[in-house]
Amino acid sequence: MAADYMDWLRREGRIVIVGASLAGLRAAETLRAEGFAGELTLIGDEPYEPYDRPPLSKSVLLGMASPHRTELPHRLDIDAKWRLGVPATGLDLTAKRVKLADGDEVQYDRLLIATGVRARPWPKEDEARLTGVCVLRTRDDAADLYQRLKAGPRRVFVIGAGFAGSEIASACREMGIPVTVAERAGAPLVGALGGVIGAVAADLQTEHGVDLRTHVTVTSLEGDSVGRVRAVHLSDESVVEADVVVVSLGSQRNTEWLTGSGLGAGPRGIACDAGCRAFDFRGIVTDDVFVAGDVARSPHALFGYQFLSLEHWGNAVAQAETAAHNMICRGADRRPHLWMPAFWSSMFGVNIKSVGVPPMGDQLMITQGSPAERRFVGVYGYQGRVIAAVSFDNTRWLEFYARQIERGAPFPVEYPTVDRRPENRQPVAADFPDPSLPTHGPTVTLSGYSPADQQLVFHPARH
Ligand SMILES: Cc1cc2nc3c(=O)[nH]c(=O)nc-3n(C[C@H](O)[C@H](O)[C@H](O)COP(=O)(O)OP(=O)(O)OC[C@H]3O[C@@H](n4cnc5c(N)ncnc54)[C@H](O)[C@@H]3O)c2cc1C
Repeated sequence: MAADYMDWLRREGRIVIVGASLAGLRAAETLRAEGFAGELTLIGDEPYEPYDRPPLSKSVLLGMASPHRTELPHRLDIDAKWRLGVPATGLDLTAKRVKLADGDEVQYDRLLIATGVRARPWPKEDEARLTGVCVLRTRDDAADLYQRLKAGPRRVFVIGAGFAGSEIASACREMGIPVTVAERAGAPLVGALGGVIGAVAADLQTEHGVDLRTHVTVTSLEGDSVGRVRAVHLSDESVVEADVVVVSLGSQRNTEWLTGSGLGAGPRGIACDAGCRAFDFRGIVTDDVFVAGDVARSPHALFGYQFLSLEHWGNAVAQAETAAHNMICRGADRRPHLWMPAFWSSMFGVNIKSVGVPPMGDQLMITQGSPAERRFVGVYGYQGRVIAAVSFDNTRWLEFYARQIERGAPFPVEYPTVDRRPENRQPVAADFPDPSLPTHGPTVTLSGYSPADQQLVFHPARH
């Protein structure tokens, strides 16, 4: 990259950020803090300035914070043009233009995509439209759900016992509302933390009065004569009456607007290199399009260069800062996104925190405390290395295990640890769902035989 181009870009170039939320704002602030003096535009489809999402499933549902007062603090004046309430609808990589839903087009020299994810809706559209059927991703969703909980429903039904669904169930119980949770796996949090820790989460839920149904799926939602949800039908043929149903089936990546742009964007997110530069759909890295936050998939050297999609608050901040730095520096000064994955949650009075990538772990050891006491640390191993750790009400140890992951410490953990119990000396299978089951169809296929004939064909994704 010619040095004089970079000097020009930093002085008077145009940077556009699509996605005006956590990653978008933190990237904008980093650009200014690192001396970008050119034109900065933030495009966001929500009508609000960037706000924080973690409180939406915690303090907001409990009425301890208003959904309209979770704005993210601005660390400095970013002097940007804000285009809020207008989705980006297309990208022309050759002309370097972002197309907007209102017909406008915005020209860029460097582009950052930070369009995040949205809640996966209930798949049957007529049932999803019933009054009382909700999702939780945005502050409008949180305001709506809070009003419904405040109104004192007879029962809330939560479909899906991942972190979000479990936090919502916890808020319901704290408000004294009867709640049923349905989960296809054998326990809550199984996809994120495996079956052993999932069993602890299941006990937590039932001890707090949650009617937890596992190994079941919801087959249909039933409405009354005026279009309000009244009951939920399950695959075990049981029927549960409920007047609020929260669909908590994970997320979908906001990449449809890039279909046909030539970028490597699909249902798994937007692939990028460790320096946050997006790949085109052939797998060749672009020079002027960067990605950050929940929508990004990037390789992590510590985890075998696997492409990780992390829907973690801390990842969005760190990746946005790295992307912004790399957007305006010379090649030799670029740095990789090497953030140690870390996630926190709180539910049923317990703080849960993880570091590393638990779903990569095939084995688990309890190294401190005891699951029976709901206060412990579990360490995950993968091919003889420490790969992740999780704590229930024992956060102070996670920093230590983060360092163990960084230095590739051996697993099983041999060294003595504080509060190690004799019954936990041996590792057990971490018990994650079978990763070989396909979740998405292919987005690219290859035709032709000789290298000269071979052509990659892009298939728009089914989300
Ligand atoms: C209820 C809830 C609780 C959470 N709790 C935790 C927690 O306890 N711990 C934790 O680590 N993480 C938590 N998270 C995750 C964390 O909030 C996310 O990792 C973080 O918000 C990611 O930021 P982002 O900027 O990448 O994406 P987002 O916050 O999703 O922002 C993307 C923005 O881009 C917009 N957009 C999408 N498409 C377009 C388009 N075509 N044009 C313009 N704009 C577009 C979206 O509407 C959105 O405003 C939680 C998330 C939710 C929803």
